[in-house]
Amino acid sequence: MKNKLLILLGICVAGAIQAQDIHNNPTSNHGNKFEALGTILPTPNEYRTASGAPGPKYWQQRADYDITCSLDENKQWLTGSETITYFNNSPNELTYLWMQLDENEHSTKNNANYQDGSSMPKIVSDQMLDRVANAKETNDYGDNIVKITDALGKPLDHMVNKTMMRIELPATLKPGQKFVFKINWNYHISDRMKTGGRGGYEYFPEDGNYLFTMTQWYPRLCVYSDFQGWQNNQFTSRGEFALTFGNFKVQMTVPADHIIGATGECQNYQQVLTPGQFARWQQAQTAKEPVEIVTLAEAKASEVKKNKATKTWIFKADNVRDFAWGSSRKFVMDAMPAYVEGKKVMCMSYYGKEAYPLYRRFSTKAVAHTIKTYSHFTIPFPYPVAQSVEAANGMEYPMICFNYGRCEKDGTYSEATKYGMLGVVIHEVGHNFFPMIINSDERQWTWMDEGLNSFVEYLTEERWDNHFPVRGKGPGWAIVDYMKLPKDQLEPIMTNSENIVNFGPNAYSKPATALNILRETVMGRELFDYAFKEYARRWAFKHPTPADLFRTMNDASAENLDWYWRGWFYGIEPVDLSLDSVKHLTPDFSHVPEHTTTTVVKHIDKPYPDGKFPTDISKVRNREDKSIVFPSDADTSLHDFYYKYTRGQIPYDTATYTVESTHINGREVNSFSDEPLDDAEKSKLQSKQFYELQFSNKGGLVMPIIIEWTYKDGTREIERIPAQVWRKNEARLTKLFVKDKEVRSIKLDPNRETADIDESNNSWPVVQTESKFEIFKAKQLGPRAIPQANNPMQMTGKDKKAF
Ligand SMILES: [Zn+2]
Repeated sequence: MKNKLLILLGICVAGAIQAQDIHNNPTSNHGNKFEALGTILPTPNEYRTASGAPGPKYWQQRADYDITCSLDENKQWLTGSETITYFNNSPNELTYLWMQLDENEHSTKNNANYQDGSSMPKIVSDQMLDRVANAKETNDYGDNIVKITDALGKPLDHMVNKTMMRIELPATLKPGQKFVFKINWNYHISDRMKTGGRGGYEYFPEDGNYLFTMTQWYPRLCVYSDFQGWQNNQFTSRGEFALTFGNFKVQMTVPADHIIGATGECQNYQQVLTPGQFARWQQAQTAKEPVEIVTLAEAKASEVKKNKATKTWIFKADNVRDFAWGSSRKFVMDAMPAYVEGKKVMCMSYYGKEAYPLYRRFSTKAVAHTIKTYSHFTIPFPYPVAQSVEAANGMEYPMICFNYGRCEKDGTYSEATKYGMLGVVIHEVGHNFFPMIINSDERQWTWMDEGLNSFVEYLTEERWDNHFPVRGKGPGWAIVDYMKLPKDQLEPIMTNSENIVNFGPNAYSKPATALNILRETVMGRELFDYAFKEYARRWAFKHPTPADLFRTMNDASAENLDWYWRGWFYGIEPVDLSLDSVKHLTPDFSHVPEHTTTTVVKHIDKPYPDGKFPTDISKVRNREDKSIVFPSDADTSLHDFYYKYTRGQIPYDTATYTVESTHINGREVNSFSDEPLDDAEKSKLQSKQFYELQFSNKGGLVMPIIIEWTYKDGTREIERIPAQVWRKNEARLTKLFVKDKEVRSIKLDPNRETADIDESNNSWPVVQTESKFEIFKAKQLGPRAIPQANNPMQMTGKDKKAF
């Protein structure tokens, strides 16, 4: 789901793992942030291994559905019956099954009713007041369960607990057995624009038509798994879904002029489309551009005529975790094939006249770009179709999703609407991979679905258009405002979906940005991409947990990233690395300590090479990667009004920085030997510049140190020091650098990659000439005379006494 549609307050219940609980020795300045996750992760077993891969005895359940239903447009009512075949692949005996009745979220008697605190806002709409006033009135929404029987028609005992239903099995279901049963049900479809939620209808008073989004519409099996038994946490409309894979056959009877887009492939287009439409469908199979199967003129004619007859559409979908559909006579429908590793995928879109100018040009091409790009980063898209439906929302299902993006009455649209539409299509189509195929438990871990998906969404947007605006995720600087919040407003990413206060930033932006920083700044693209792809490959069509992701990323990269998972996923501390002081040290060959002089130089430095916009290193690297072709440039049919102008340059931070240049005293240095250096040695040393930098970790979250050196001759150099430099002291660090040239200024994280929340302590100038240190030739004292670590200064000064 697109987060901005669901910004509600979560329920504050204790239970999140707090950052301090996971430290071995909280009072120490080391030995905490770099310790292995160890017992914080579940113990590996024969189902899930320590490497992060499924184990030799990995199992999962399966549920096949055969559903028949009919839509009464006038009463907004859906009536259905389903035959479910449930396969018990677990090693356990089952005496009951749990099913999800998600429509009960709208019911006044069967909803979970886990309320949040509330207060009177300053501005109240009459609609809002109505909702508050009517909250206690009974409505007729929610699932009506008419009958549940076994395959022979014998009734089965069942009990509804809010949004969950337990069905008693007539006999114990043993490992390896299957059970066939049948449910008859119906429900009153709600007005999605008024009641909210993911499914329902939207009514268009202008033309008197409906657009139905049928989602969570049939009673669905809960997941029974090796790691938590039944996932039957109540549905509060917040934490999304956990679902079992299976095969679907669905037949829906709807008004004869409705067009249906659904999970899977339609089996009877020849019966439900007109001959002209069917001919265009066949023509689309080999088309290079989207073909209108149902044209705008046909959709507009249907809107007026309102056919009273009905037709039945038949769809099939194999190996999916869910099934959704959209139905309306307002739909224009277009299609075009895309090829993923040689396999054809029909990319399709459905939209009313309200969205036509945007969707006709961009939607199906964005679908194709999304499945191709996600396939590059994860696994090849395995399904035969991928579809985008305009429904003024953002919600995902296998092979189909619902998106927003309507135009002005005159057919124009703003650039913000355009990028919003492209963003939501890419996001929702991308959910095919997370969580529809790499099938994590959304009810428990929203970030495994939204965070991972938002991350690959960002990669996909960046590969659509090198000017795609950055919105809240991706580069480090995009998450700074969230990371800066007071601690009582933050919770770790590893927090249950229902308990999150700042849902959007916590479950979408922070994990997406953390993964992007991991890719661009910590691991590098090659190492990260291989490991992330391996996670997708291992867990496609399975049920992964966070530990499976963390372990796989370590396992496939030879990088122990436990410090990163600890800091970014289990902790709430922000990044704030500070450059506290700089000492410029020069060799003193005279043995005579000299006085130092101090001057202060102030100058304004342009913060970014490209003026007022922060650099998005993903964009720079994508530009340099000649293997990337941006559809926004290559495909001229995508060049709209905005293409001619500077695209995607949203204003960000125009602040300039004052850099103080302070001269600092050098320090006195002793020697090891009385033997003076010879001239060659002296001149070699005299050609070097020594800088000793002191850093402190003010934010708490350990990160790599990225230093931009600007030399006196105007050249620049970026140096990257891995985060492990903080291992022995997580709060303070002194480090010596040896340069060939004199340094004019120093800046930490010049491209704002690390999400550093306070940049005022990131810059320092360097002194011209200041203090001297004395230097003598070292005596050969055996191995101990070799400099420790990579810091030659350890041999000098008081360290000498240790020799
Ligand atoms: Zn989403």
